[in-house]
Amino acid sequence: MNYCNYCPGYCCYRLKGSVLLIDAEDINRLARYFSITDGEARKRFMENRHTFKVKDDGSCIFQARDKMIKRCTVHEARPRQCRMFPYNSPCPYLEREDLLAEIQPRLEAGLKNHWLKKSFSQNP
Ligand code: SF4
Ligand code: SF4
Repeated sequence: MNYCNYCPGYCCYRLKGSVLLIDAEDINRLARYFSITDGEARKRFMENRHTFKVKDDGSCIFQARDKMIKRCTVHEARPRQCRMFPYNSPCPYLEREDLLAEIQPRLEAGLKNHWLKKSFSQNP
């Protein structure tokens, strides 16, 4: 989807009632990408049997903190559900104000925190 190239990845934030379902093939793809075992990938990346861990703001652990676009740090090895979304339909995140209203503040806060931390660590 062309819009994805210019989008900060709204779909990479966990919302109440939504879940990113990860299967054994997804785990194996990531394990190969990082040159680790499937078991190690599960231990490092999975919150439970079915889904990835998320950061404090609910964003996927693989989403870059310091960028506005092209934020998936495992893009080549991203899970099937990420590849398929939004399933040849218009992206709901770009169409629904309620979704944007929930995610945009989290996105801005996450980026702001990152840049503040970075600027303090560079100017002690
Ligand atoms: S699917 Fe929608 S929310 Fe996700 S990156 Fe593409 S345009 Fe953005
Ligand atoms: S793996 Fe990449 S595309 Fe999928 S939710 Fe995480 S950051 Fe987004």
